[in-house]
Amino acid sequence: MNAFEPPAAENPAAENPAAENPVAQKRYEGKAKILYATDDPEVLLTYFKDDATAFNAQKRGTISGKGEVNCAMSQHLFRLLEAQGVPTHLIDCPTSNTMRVRRVSIVPLEVVVRNIAAGSLCQQTGLELGTPLSPPLVEFYLKNDALGDPLLTEDRLRVMGLATPDQVQQLREMALRVNQVLSEFFNQCGITLVDFKLEFGVDGTGKLLLADEISPDTCRLWNQAESDPNRRVMDKDRFRRDLGDVEAAYQQVLQRVLAQSV
Ligand code: 5GP
Repeated sequence: MNAFEPPAAENPAAENPAAENPVAQKRYEGKAKILYATDDPEVLLTYFKDDATAFNAQKRGTISGKGEVNCAMSQHLFRLLEAQGVPTHLIDCPTSNTMRVRRVSIVPLEVVVRNIAAGSLCQQTGLELGTPLSPPLVEFYLKNDALGDPLLTEDRLRVMGLATPDQVQQLREMALRVNQVLSEFFNQCGITLVDFKLEFGVDGTGKLLLADEISPDTCRLWNQAESDPNRRVMDKDRFRRDLGDVEAAYQQVLQRVLAQSV
């Protein structure tokens, strides 16, 4: 039997996957993914959902096929990053929407890298959409929905005991290395990497690993073949801003990504 049974919403027959399969114990359910324990305490199974949320879950919907796109794309990009010396939590993908990952303790920060001004940066600073940011901007947000994921300063990070100056430096360097590798890769796909969010975790030995996912849910991606500011959008902004053709955009991104070997 497969080590994973989809959750009840996907498979009504399996009301409680854990009851049918002792290795599928749900550990944590987030907005876009569910984490299951496996028979190996050092390995977790991530199930990628089609559920989509935006604006701190005030907007909810479904993007058909999103789970598979995000899983396949994350796997491809994690392999690329591993090959370029960035350690990640990826082990492998036993099915099209599940990923086995190394158990880590998640650092409660969202690390955002921006190459071009968009989204909250424009809303909060008045910078014009599309302004190039060189060198790229690295920002730290507290991963806390109840507080609305506030932007943190390095002093706040220190005061809150979230990261020492050395750890902040390590996160910044890893995020910038990821940006370098991904920007070049997406460029080869005819896509501009505008900005993205990363999450990190610490493994049992204290090593920092790139965790979570890299997908159109977590990146802003603009089609270089389109100049129209709405038509060029290939990411979750299509859902956030009701631009339509969300599924087609996700599939197009995946096709282009998988067409480039790692
Ligand atoms: P912004 O701060 O402009 O809303 O987001 C910057 C980048 O980080 C965008 O690519 C956005 O998709 C990603 N991002 C920021 N916060 C989150 C979050 O809570 N969830 C997801 N999926 N992406 C986020």
